[in-house]
Amino acid sequence: MTEAVEEDDMEPIEERYAAGCAWIEGDYVPIHEARIPILDTGFVRSDLTYDVAAVWKGRFFRLDDHLDRLLRGCDRLRLAPPVPTERMREIMVETVRRSGLQDAYVEIVVTRGVPAAGQRDPRLLTPRLYAYAIPYVWIVTPELQADGGADVVIAAQTQRISPRAVDPTVKNFHWGDLVRGLFEAYDRGASLVLLTDGDGLVTEGPGFNVFAVVDGVLVTPRDGVLEGITRRTALEIAEASGIPVRVGDVSVADLARAGELFLTSTAGGIMPVRSLDGRHLGTGPVTRSIHDAYWALHSDPRFSFEVPYGRPAT
Ligand code: PLP
Repeated sequence: MTEAVEEDDMEPIEERYAAGCAWIEGDYVPIHEARIPILDTGFVRSDLTYDVAAVWKGRFFRLDDHLDRLLRGCDRLRLAPPVPTERMREIMVETVRRSGLQDAYVEIVVTRGVPAAGQRDPRLLTPRLYAYAIPYVWIVTPELQADGGADVVIAAQTQRISPRAVDPTVKNFHWGDLVRGLFEAYDRGASLVLLTDGDGLVTEGPGFNVFAVVDGVLVTPRDGVLEGITRRTALEIAEASGIPVRVGDVSVADLARAGELFLTSTAGGIMPVRSLDGRHLGTGPVTRSIHDAYWALHSDPRFSFEVPYGRPAT
């Protein structure tokens, strides 16, 4: 990893960063100019971990929780982050500050690095860091949310990669199963998919966790999933509101009789499900109250801080 090169003292919010700003090996670059080395093992081996935080109305939400998860992932992969945590935090904030984006999707990636010719031993590589901010991403658009939410199916032919093969608690790019599942959904006239563990238990979908209201209890899978920050926020809101919660096994049969279903992700927040496997659901009262509380927390200083758009570059 090269050291951060000299950065301008007073780089203003610039038009060239308006579509997004990336940090690549010490330089801030417009998002469409950002490039990674083709031999980076993050690309050729998916040997990496990453995290995504959101900025909403000019405020970063739970950034330190995202960085904690990134560090835990690095530890599990035996990946030493190339810069201190405080510097990673600074870089993420700076990509947003330069872009001027008020609502942003902010990603940070740590890869194993670029091997020397013929090198195959991952212990010998020097990890690399990449980061970027782009406009906020919605897995379910606000328009669709207002219209009852997403049409979802449970994949019949694709199961989630086993946690014994790829640890789902380490945020990763092993999306072969998730993308294959998405095509199953499209073929069945739906837009999103949930994958099971192959044994009747529900796990998660492409970029989101799932919650269901079953017999008045809010349930979400415990195992075989990423411990989403939005999932955590939803659980905290439910507990604080006195909604009974169970984190444990959630079966396909549980979902088949659920009264409400919602998806959670940094990319879209609390997203209602309009139908599951063709059965109509629509937004229920539990989904609505957690949704509203979730967005209200984005302006709460206990969970968020303002991006210093007017400040000189760091
Ligand atoms: N599950 C998977 C597989 C994901 O990729 C993501 C986010 O990208 C989530 C769940 C939701 O996590 P979070 O709420 O931290 O965004």
